[in-house]
Amino acid sequence: MLTRRSFVRIAGGSVGLLVAAPALVGLGAGARTRWTAGDPFSLGVASGSPAADGFVLWTRLAPDPLSPDPAAPGGMTGGDVEIAYEIAADPAMREIVRRGSAVAEAAFAHSVHAEIAGLAPDRPYWYRFHAGEAASPIGRSRTAPRPGAPLDRLRFGFVSCSNYEEGYFSAYRHLADEDPDLVLFLGDYIYEYVNPHDGRVRAHSDGVEASTLGTYRNRYAQYRLDPDLQRLHAAAPCLVTWDDHEVQNDYAGEWSESFDEPEVFLERRRAAYRAFYEHMPVRPSLSRPNGDRMRIYDRFTYGDLAEFSLIDGRQYRSRAACYIPPFGGGGHLENDASCPERRDPMRTMLGMPQEAWLYNGFARTKARWNVIAQNMMMAQFKERQGGGDFKFSTEDWNGYPESRARLLRQLHDSRAANPVVLSGDMHAYWTSDLRLDFDNPDSPIVGTEFVTTSVTSGCPPYEDYARHLPDNPHIRYFESRKRGYAMVDLTPRLMTTKLQTVSDATNPDATLATLETFVIEDGRAGAIGA
Ligand code: FE
Ligand code: CA
Repeated sequence: MLTRRSFVRIAGGSVGLLVAAPALVGLGAGARTRWTAGDPFSLGVASGSPAADGFVLWTRLAPDPLSPDPAAPGGMTGGDVEIAYEIAADPAMREIVRRGSAVAEAAFAHSVHAEIAGLAPDRPYWYRFHAGEAASPIGRSRTAPRPGAPLDRLRFGFVSCSNYEEGYFSAYRHLADEDPDLVLFLGDYIYEYVNPHDGRVRAHSDGVEASTLGTYRNRYAQYRLDPDLQRLHAAAPCLVTWDDHEVQNDYAGEWSESFDEPEVFLERRRAAYRAFYEHMPVRPSLSRPNGDRMRIYDRFTYGDLAEFSLIDGRQYRSRAACYIPPFGGGGHLENDASCPERRDPMRTMLGMPQEAWLYNGFARTKARWNVIAQNMMMAQFKERQGGGDFKFSTEDWNGYPESRARLLRQLHDSRAANPVVLSGDMHAYWTSDLRLDFDNPDSPIVGTEFVTTSVTSGCPPYEDYARHLPDNPHIRYFESRKRGYAMVDLTPRLMTTKLQTVSDATNPDATLATLETFVIEDGRAGAIGA
């Protein structure tokens, strides 16, 4: 496997050759082509992890993207392949500002993660790859402004829960067309399972639940073949966190939904995390997988305007509270009498090291808006079932109330400006005031949460949630009957969040409409309907 150091050395030493004639070069024993037919760039391009001087450029060589042979992922065999990239200042790629080479690593399904530095801040760039005779589509990325530099506006979208089988990705297409500076993927980017026949608009290609490296790879490849998703990735850089379905429904840390022996489940997690890495434009210097572990939490700063804390709510969490075999280990409802474990302060959603990292960021930020981008709804949601005590889901933040209380207390006490939490997973829009104590309507509002709806994935009946809203007055808005995304325009004075919905997720040509608009004023927590 190539180390970071050898990657840099190879890239530096080969630039001249590649500038003269973008060509496929085999590393080691001489140059040779590793595919004979098909477009090696069938999965498109992507960029991510924007910094003030660069970003990560991604592609994966896959001339036979859904190859059924696990020994030939994407139709590729053999060792590492060196390919060329170009970065330009204009969309027609006339004014090239950088040429270089990057390695498509055989150990990672011939994916490329080129960590680019040395570019100018706060401007768009266009890029493409060359391999042999083939050129990739042109993608557009964007550097961030320098930390602390004055910034007047930022425009970004956030999305979650795109089940390929349940619909078309029109939401991704419309988001791409809004010209965002940045896109946040907040989890359930793929679904590992296979829907029953009557729940399918289109089918996962292999018809089996992903559970091995080969089947996870093909799941990502199939999603990336989708033209709307390719268009979105080519339109803007992204930040990516995951939820459960990138691995398995309702898993928690080293515990599967069915509480298998962790050694058994961690083999599956290792495969799933590796495939995630192979398909996402994450920084190799941070996120290269280490066995069954992979760090994805990270922080991104946009001038003096915004800081994004992108966090991981799956990998480090404590085991779900109050599992009763053979009943499912995943989400179920418990009350305080049935499950005192839920309130154990030793339990954590983020793991103590990530909690410390996050709170340290709260204490140090100078940004006007402080965004926590993560996978699951943070607002408390209590449900009165059968006339008894309130019950709480064990699967989301409600299953980790002490961890949530620590986070909100730290956020409040840090006086970080304008905290905003962005979330996914619920397959519905929720806008909430995050109170220091959710059960006390007079307690301070620490920040505001926007949960985006799903791109395609279905939701339980509206009434199942809506009937509990009177018991949860901090929840200001709820709508589960629409699919789509959320779009944010940020200025020093205002955060404007539009809930953007598609007309019909089962229609590949679905149209777009704005369902609601919320504004948050600088210095005033809590969303106001506009
Ligand atoms: Fe989901
Ligand atoms: Ca989920």
